[in-house]
Amino acid sequence: MLANKRGSGGHVPASISDNGAILLGSNFTVDSHCDGRPVRVVTHAHSDHTKGLRSSVRRSLFVIATPITFRFLEVLGYKVPGEKRVELPYYKPINIDSERIMLVPARHIPGSAQVVVEAPDYRVGYTGDFKVPGTPPLRDLDVLVVDATYGSPRLQRRWKDWEALEALIAIIEDNVWEGPVWIYGYHGKLQEILLELRKRGVEYRIMADARTIALASVAAEYERVDTGRIEVLTDPLLPGPGDIVLAHMRRRRSYTRLPGTHVTLTGWELRAVAVRTGPKSYNVSYSDHATFSEILDYIREANPGMVIVDGYRSSEAMLTAKYIERLLGVKATYMP
Ligand SMILES: [Zn+2]
Repeated sequence: MLANKRGSGGHVPASISDNGAILLGSNFTVDSHCDGRPVRVVTHAHSDHTKGLRSSVRRSLFVIATPITFRFLEVLGYKVPGEKRVELPYYKPINIDSERIMLVPARHIPGSAQVVVEAPDYRVGYTGDFKVPGTPPLRDLDVLVVDATYGSPRLQRRWKDWEALEALIAIIEDNVWEGPVWIYGYHGKLQEILLELRKRGVEYRIMADARTIALASVAAEYERVDTGRIEVLTDPLLPGPGDIVLAHMRRRRSYTRLPGTHVTLTGWELRAVAVRTGPKSYNVSYSDHATFSEILDYIREANPGMVIVDGYRSSEAMLTAKYIERLLGVKATYMP
């Protein structure tokens, strides 16, 4: 328990448990299960944020997420019964017990949300995964729990999203008529890339597995983008010149043996925006997370009483907390 910024002398309930549950207020467990907490919140549909969701569905009173996150969860095989399901649009607070919860947009994958929990004595929040610009900082918090996937200067990318997209499109245009271009990434990122390619007028046929396409259709519906020519990949030998294949990262090992050009989307590529890794393979440095300096920018603007860095989902949380204290003069720690 931490001292209250507003000087009321009360204690501020915000912490991260050993299983990655972000505990906000007295009622909410976010992005992992916690017995005894009546309300489970899911910030977005990535697997490191849906931990223990089946337990939460069985044992908690309510599950809260944005409408689009619920659609994604369905495609991913989670069933949340109607009586427990609370679809909460952005900026529509609801009261539960003596606390008020509100979801705020986060730019990460479709449906991603930040979470604010408020009571008369405290106001606490969690960014979830995010990138900037596009993620409004949560202000006036006693405690901010922050995602810091790239939480140290040695993980700093030196280019912007649009530069990475430009590099990807150049690789597609240079290679697509010699054979299919295979693009590897995780759910969320693949759908975002599909929509970004279409928005930029890239009209090649796109093939992907049924789940990737189902998620893309949900995202396209919410963003009002036409997915164009898109087909389920029933046989990996099918794609040919003029085709783009979007494939989950776990398929990469088996698909890279196939003819064509192979592109891996990864925020961990720090050498350049696009790096050739073989005769027909590339890394494109594209991430769904803020860079180190963007994390600092966010915290500077949010100006919370205190920061807790999520050490469950990032590897350098201790370092991140030290940098926040030294560079911003904001009290910071990390958990678990
Ligand atoms: Zn995520």
